[in-house]
Amino acid sequence: MNVHEYQGKEVLRQYGVVVPRGQVAFTPEEAVEAAENLGGELWVVKAQIHAGGRGKAGGVKLAKSLDEVKQFASELLGSTLVTHQTGPEGKEVKRLLIEEGCRIKKEYYVGMVIDRSNSRITMMASEEGGTEIEEVAARTPEKIFKETVDPTVGLQPFQARRLAFSIGIPKEMVGKAVKFMLGLYRAFEQKDCSLAEINPLITTEDGQVMALDAKLNFDDNALYRHKDIAEFRDLDEEDPKEIEASKYDLSYIALDGNIGCMVNGAGLAMATMDIIKHYGGEPANFLDVGGGATAEKVTEAFKIILDDPHVKGILVNIFGGIMKCDVIAEGVVEAAKQVGLDRPLVVRLEGTNVERGQQILGESGLKITAADSMDDAAEKIVSLVR
Ligand code: ADP
Ligand code: MG
Repeated sequence: MNVHEYQGKEVLRQYGVVVPRGQVAFTPEEAVEAAENLGGELWVVKAQIHAGGRGKAGGVKLAKSLDEVKQFASELLGSTLVTHQTGPEGKEVKRLLIEEGCRIKKEYYVGMVIDRSNSRITMMASEEGGTEIEEVAARTPEKIFKETVDPTVGLQPFQARRLAFSIGIPKEMVGKAVKFMLGLYRAFEQKDCSLAEINPLITTEDGQVMALDAKLNFDDNALYRHKDIAEFRDLDEEDPKEIEASKYDLSYIALDGNIGCMVNGAGLAMATMDIIKHYGGEPANFLDVGGGATAEKVTEAFKIILDDPHVKGILVNIFGGIMKCDVIAEGVVEAAKQVGLDRPLVVRLEGTNVERGQQILGESGLKITAADSMDDAAEKIVSLVR
């Protein structure tokens, strides 16, 4: 789960990571009130959307008076911000973070991920802050330094020190940078993060080390033990189809293509997407209805797929093991009855009760193209949507 910058900063603050003082605002009036509370004479008005690249897209504004705070807040709220991470449709700004303006000396980068190649948390740092780390990695990979964390002892101060020196933090601020990194690590580990990106981490003219931006992602499977984090969920930022799917405990992820897929088992779902691509098609979603799905669950899954206007055809690929083919067939027929099947549908069933399943589909009166292998199914749906 993704959270907003201001929420991420709240979490970091709890772990002693220094962040600028700030307050969330939902209206221009609240923005001015926040700026008044903060005091000072320089504020930053920051659009809160679940995407980076806001600065370049005009979503981060420096205000020198309360009038400017109000003006920028009015302009940003309700506007659609298009950044390189939002996709061309952009995201509507509904919240702002009003923050004290900081006197930046230099911008750095610090990130944490779980490195799948060694199953360990890795901290990365670079002197190239404020720019995209992907670009730094592509152009000057030698400017990214990494420390792998041993889970039995956690991130060690010597590792943080090595990172701080490698990226050229001035000697007198290394102590603060180390404290920063150790706090960030503790937050990451204790709150079950899957990703943390501080871009930029800054040093200020008055000798502080701070997180000027914060992007935190949390492991969905661990949210049950972090009620405080779960409350940060902002449904406005999520795909409505994915929200609907999560109500029925379906693993669904929307993609860019036009072939809707309904599959059981994550492995088979991945293989189905691969084979669609192999025949030149593009999947519109990943959908795993799971092992023990009921006809009702299948009906909902099918409705979610049909609801997507990008879907030009559907491929149902089921291997009935625990899941029975007749249950899938009933779900498909029920959903088609409820919402009307107006697009080509290719079904490949195999396994338990396959004859019964095929019979249900055959007698349904629906226009279904049967396929007798995965290969056959993929080839048929790709040519049908063309
Ligand atoms: P994004 O990564 O989405 O572009 P950031 O939070 O990183 O958004 O902000 C972009 C840039 O705006 C930063 O690199 C920094 O130069 C400037 N900035 C952001 N917050 C502040 C602040 N509180 N004070 C001064 N400058 C800021
Ligand atoms: Mg940033």
